[in-house]
Amino acid sequence: MSDQNHDVLVQVKGLTKHYPIQQDFISRLLSAEEAKKVRAVDGVEFDIRRGEVFGLAGESGSGKTTVGRLVLRLTDPTEGDIIFDGVNIARLSNEDMRQMRARMQIIFQDPFASLNPRMRIGDGIGHGVKIHSDATATERRTVVETMMEYVGLTPAKLYYEKYPHQLSGGQRQRAVIARALVTRPELVVADEPIAMADVSVRALLLELMIRLKEDFNLTYLFITHDLATAKYICDRIGIMYLGKLVEVGDLRDVYTHPSHPYTDALLEAVPVPDPESRHEKPLPKGEIPNPIDPPSGCRFHPRCPLAVDVCSEIEPELRPVEGSTGHLAACHLTTGDYRHLAPK
Ligand code: SF4
Repeated sequence: MSDQNHDVLVQVKGLTKHYPIQQDFISRLLSAEEAKKVRAVDGVEFDIRRGEVFGLAGESGSGKTTVGRLVLRLTDPTEGDIIFDGVNIARLSNEDMRQMRARMQIIFQDPFASLNPRMRIGDGIGHGVKIHSDATATERRTVVETMMEYVGLTPAKLYYEKYPHQLSGGQRQRAVIARALVTRPELVVADEPIAMADVSVRALLLELMIRLKEDFNLTYLFITHDLATAKYICDRIGIMYLGKLVEVGDLRDVYTHPSHPYTDALLEAVPVPDPESRHEKPLPKGEIPNPIDPPSGCRFHPRCPLAVDVCSEIEPELRPVEGSTGHLAACHLTTGDYRHLAPK
């Protein structure tokens, strides 16, 4: 896909983030091996189209949160390109990046940790406006109160004066959403935005996010460990495992024809509300392996119920799933040269 494609707001190419591991001087001197590093994200590629909700899902430790931070350049990539509206922000200077930041925002998982406990809610929401615009204090207050009303913090004049500890969990998350949107960004990275909210308000928060997306022409990168939540809001989805994207496609294609055994396992593990038709299965045995020393070949092979010899030797690439457009998977048995080894 070309950088000139105006339907694409974000294009991520070869995105990699390795964190070096601190070793003391003696260990470094004695070690003949290459310095160890955590391979948090390893060569991830995807596009986010304007106006869509692109989901990134996977277990904890899959690298999805790191990808979200890289897309906003809250952390610098080790390698790769992040093209936002035609500009490669991976190579922007800090000053140019500061200008760009008004066009992209993040909603963090923990609203309590992401709001300054000593700042009034209204001042916290308006902080970005103060940084990114020349608005006077009066204009800023008007903008903030309008946004607070919009997200349901009403009456805004009352909530403006409150402090984070005086709000419920759901109200705090509404404040975090208002803070993200008050600068009118184009891209919002929502990192598990409802995971810490009470079950009773999760659907309301998702509905609010969908309404805001339509009203403000937003594009979301929606990060979640929960495929049931992703099903509710995402248009397309990428599944991550141990720093790699293992499947990507339209939500309906991925959910009805999962083409990677890990996606299949994640979908099987989604709880079913009706106890009569309860069939969820636990995820495959074992923890997600250590990203310092990932398994050879396919990183999923130690847990994969279908693994064959070649899986531990050769790494599968993301390839189109037969008979579909835009649905890709990285599995020797479903998309690669070794399909003939798949069990009949
Ligand atoms: Fe399983 Fe092999 Fe496919 Fe990896 S390549 S998901 S180990 S069958």
